[in-house]
Amino acid sequence: MVKDIPKLVRVSLGTATVLGLDLAILKEKPTTAYLQTYWDGRCTANCRFCAQSRDADAEMFRVARAFYPAYPTQKVLKALKKAWTKKKIRRVCFQTVNYPGMLKELKTLVRHVKLFLGDVPISTSTHAIPRKELEELKKAGATNMVIPLDACSERVFDEVKGVKAGGPYRWVSHWKALEEALKVFGGWKVGTHLILGLGETEFEAVQIFQKLYEKKVYCGLFAFTPIKGTPLQNLKKPPIESYRLLQLIYHLIFSGELKVEDVRFNSEGYIVDFNCEKGKILRLVETGIPFQTTGCPNCNRPFATESPTEIYNYPRALKRDEVKLVKKQLAKRISWLK
Ligand code: SF4
Repeated sequence: MVKDIPKLVRVSLGTATVLGLDLAILKEKPTTAYLQTYWDGRCTANCRFCAQSRDADAEMFRVARAFYPAYPTQKVLKALKKAWTKKKIRRVCFQTVNYPGMLKELKTLVRHVKLFLGDVPISTSTHAIPRKELEELKKAGATNMVIPLDACSERVFDEVKGVKAGGPYRWVSHWKALEEALKVFGGWKVGTHLILGLGETEFEAVQIFQKLYEKKVYCGLFAFTPIKGTPLQNLKKPPIESYRLLQLIYHLIFSGELKVEDVRFNSEGYIVDFNCEKGKILRLVETGIPFQTTGCPNCNRPFATESPTEIYNYPRALKRDEVKLVKKQLAKRISWLK
């Protein structure tokens, strides 16, 4: 038995409902259990979009649009085991904030989940950490390692997470940690998060999709969501038609069908055209697949960054009327889709 287990762990409200710890009306159920290490204080970093960052004045139990109340860890472990046995969840995901002792707690939690659930896939998402810590996380039972870049370029990273945000993070060290994680966990077992709408150009987004694909790093795409009490509370969400186009390009790049060289941009970095057969695009759009949540296998993050009335990432296969809506949104950028 592993000792020194943290007393509390944060659980997303959707997950808590699936686990039977709480009761909320769920329009869509999460297929991954979303947890977060518990810390009764603010993160030591200062990402400008985050409710839990050092200088933010927002509610601490928020992660993007989702609420993460704290529950006793023992109770959560038992509920997780039941949900895993009944195939209600297919992965456990640990999100973290940065605080002294976080990695020790994370490893203990991962070990316990492994102990209780057996061979469940476990994703751990942290800031850039040294190789030794990556190895220990893997040994504890983590199957997928995610190091969120959040920003699509160094320029945006510095502004929202790095030097200009008064934060400790650096683009170079995040990339170094991704490279180390690839050596420890292997290709396609390492991921990152990208938040679209933080001030990047479409060119910067497509460029990083290509780089990640070549490195065998998958990516959870998020639409920026303004949170009250953060420095970016007045920044708007990205235009839906731009997000749709980038989802489509992301899918094409990650299925090896398109390269950044096949995409034409204007002088402001907007996509104006891309070289792919029209019939293929049409068939792909009809499947709805590019517009579903991306990230670790079986991660669907219902309403993590969207309201039920404006969906950016669909947490399941799209219905007919949703495909029609997506086509209409895309037609604003791809005229022949009209
Ligand atoms: S992609 Fe999903 S499962 Fe993977 S770390 Fe991100 S939120 Fe967790």
